[in-house]
Amino acid sequence: MAGVEVTESSTFPKEGAPYEMQAKAFEKGAGADDAEAFAEAGGPAEAGASVAGGGASVATTTNWRPAKSLNKLKEQVNAAFPGRNKASDGMIGNAAHCGPGAGGSDHCARIPDGGVGVVTAFDITHDTASGCDAQKIVEAIVDSQDQRVKYVIWNSHIWNSSAMGAAAPWAKRPYSGSNPHNKHMHVSVLGSKAKYDDDSAWQISTGGGVGV
Ligand SMILES: [Zn+2]
Repeated sequence: MAGVEVTESSTFPKEGAPYEMQAKAFEKGAGADDAEAFAEAGGPAEAGASVAGGGASVATTTNWRPAKSLNKLKEQVNAAFPGRNKASDGMIGNAAHCGPGAGGSDHCARIPDGGVGVVTAFDITHDTASGCDAQKIVEAIVDSQDQRVKYVIWNSHIWNSSAMGAAAPWAKRPYSGSNPHNKHMHVSVLGSKAKYDDDSAWQISTGGGVGV
């Protein structure tokens, strides 16, 4: 394939490659959903848009990596729920989601970091059979008020780590995107390196419960 434009999922690492994650097509409308949430969360300016020089945005390169914080989260859920269903998992978006003209989201490798585009969103498949219950994981993350998080979306609700209008930080708010996010939960981390590459352990279970 010539050029840097991402046109095929084969552009990305295959299963078993460093990040065990292929490009995700995302459900129709999911991009808009994430974009909507992203706009709510502060707008594209926060993420930083392009790599200096060359004129190509990071999102159109094949040179990407997950945020270290999200790799840690993935390692933890994989270890906690062996054999969990990953059907709705996703880290990097594909061309339809992130290519020229696409709405994009934190699933697009648009935060430049040393010439590599960093992806700052991770979708975790809701799979109660394995114990990987998105409701409980969201509950734990919200309960811990993890300072790396920008927002979490699950089951028609969104929790932003910062105040949104009259809503306090971490308030549970309705999420009305066309994709209700009831097959996977979405986690976006903040666009500063000190946050997205903080690979401290996540709180993914909670004894008490906060009733999110
Ligand atoms: Zn997502």
